[in-house]
Amino acid sequence: MNFFNKIVRFMYGRYGTDNLNRFFLLLYVLCFILNLFLRQNWIFLIELMLVVVIFYRTFSKKIHQRRKENQLYLKLKKIANKPFEIITKNWKDKDHIYKKCRKCKTILRLPLPIKRGIKHTKCPNCKKKLTIFAFKYQKIEIIKNKKI
Ligand SMILES: [Zn+2]
Repeated sequence: MNFFNKIVRFMYGRYGTDNLNRFFLLLYVLCFILNLFLRQNWIFLIELMLVVVIFYRTFSKKIHQRRKENQLYLKLKKIANKPFEIITKNWKDKDHIYKKCRKCKTILRLPLPIKRGIKHTKCPNCKKKLTIFAFKYQKIEIIKNKKI
């Protein structure tokens, strides 16, 4: 039996890696880089703890519990990312611009600007006038409605 088979056999029935572990790994790398400059013992201690946690989670046989932890992490991540929702949407979708209506908090999808200038449109949900910089007038779509 070669080395690879041995690893496969060892990992059988064990949890492996997931989003939470990747997050811990990123945290570890950040701590490691930070500690190259600061050289603090407490940062080293955090690094050590992270490594122990990563190995423990990867080789754990309690798959159900690890999956639950990962689910909780994903939920918290979603909540933490909420204030940046519009920024990430604008980053990912290059064909539209996302904007939040100040009155009803609905997220609106607007067409890309063609000509520079100040334009006025209406929020289709609450009929509040929105002033937008540099948009060609087109149909505005509601992406997310707070009331629903
Ligand atoms: Zn509105």
